[in-house]
Amino acid sequence: MDRGSRRPPVALALSLATAVLVAAAAPLGCGLLKGCRAKYPNFRARSYLVGDAHEHIKSRRQLNKLLDFMDRNGIWWSVLAAASDKTNLGPDADFTGYTENNETVLNIAATHPARLVPFITFDPKSPRKEKRVAYYLDRGARGIMLYHGHSDFYTTRLDTPELFEVYDLAYKAGVPVLMHINTHKYLDQLDAVLGRMSKVKFICAHLCMSFTRPSVLERLLNDHDNLYVDLSFGHPDYIKEAFGWFGEKDERREELRHLIEAHPDRFLFGSDLVFTDHPQKNKAWLDAMAGSYFSWLGAKKLKFGLPAKDDFPGLALSEETLEKIYSTNFREVILGGESLGDPKDEAVPNPKGLRPGDSDSDEVIEEK
Ligand SMILES: [Zn+2]
Repeated sequence: MDRGSRRPPVALALSLATAVLVAAAAPLGCGLLKGCRAKYPNFRARSYLVGDAHEHIKSRRQLNKLLDFMDRNGIWWSVLAAASDKTNLGPDADFTGYTENNETVLNIAATHPARLVPFITFDPKSPRKEKRVAYYLDRGARGIMLYHGHSDFYTTRLDTPELFEVYDLAYKAGVPVLMHINTHKYLDQLDAVLGRMSKVKFICAHLCMSFTRPSVLERLLNDHDNLYVDLSFGHPDYIKEAFGWFGEKDERREELRHLIEAHPDRFLFGSDLVFTDHPQKNKAWLDAMAGSYFSWLGAKKLKFGLPAKDDFPGLALSEETLEKIYSTNFREVILGGESLGDPKDEAVPNPKGLRPGDSDSDEVIEEK
């Protein structure tokens, strides 16, 4: 079946919430199984200084879990994008709680300013948004996350006067805007925004939700120098579905690989695992998800899930491109080229000099 005649399986998924479901749904497998071992063959990430451009955290209670996860996986920086209860509690929750989550991410990031990068969110219709953004910037915000462009959050257009006021605030502050844009529905509006706000850096989460249509992504990247794309897929079911879709046919994978290699400065690593107290979001599961992303990007094959039982081919991107996706682009796009401190002072342990996708273990997941 060609791409044009087939309704992309992922499009179905994308019509539902993506990352927002992570908080509520059961992670795959192992967390439910007593005694499941925290060994994952893909997990290793320790020589690139990795920046994670898309992450959420519900409260300060998960801070240590997040930092431990980052250390284990060689993730030096992490964006903490403020989110509503819909993301942090589950899709049945209302789009509330984001003001509190702004405070959470700002407070947490202030305790680790070299590593945690807060993005704030707010209601664009608020008449006080200018003051509010100024207050958040003063508190250390380094980006704005908007939930428009995804019908599970807002169905308003992307090109309303209120939203242009927000983009303008981002421009004046010199910070990027991270957005969930479903380009199956909002493509024309995204074009209009990117064209008019050409000096603002926009990061389109989840490959603009058009990874089944690389030609659309390519056209967008060619037309708009200010567009960047994060490589997260949201809920683990969607990660698996995406890996499977690319795994089905070599040409699909080759097309995406070619697109990324042709635009290596425009893609960012993102995990979007949503740190909560959900008991199944344990160390093994978090590492398994990160490991599968690393392997998908950098290796020829990977195992997905916990226990790891699904085999998929990876993109096996070049070292130069991986370095950009993991590190260089994060510094440029998220940090604006600014250094937050010399990571070498507190280097992530990497006794074996391993890189994302490498494995230093033949052990496979076992259930007891
Ligand atoms: Zn997200």
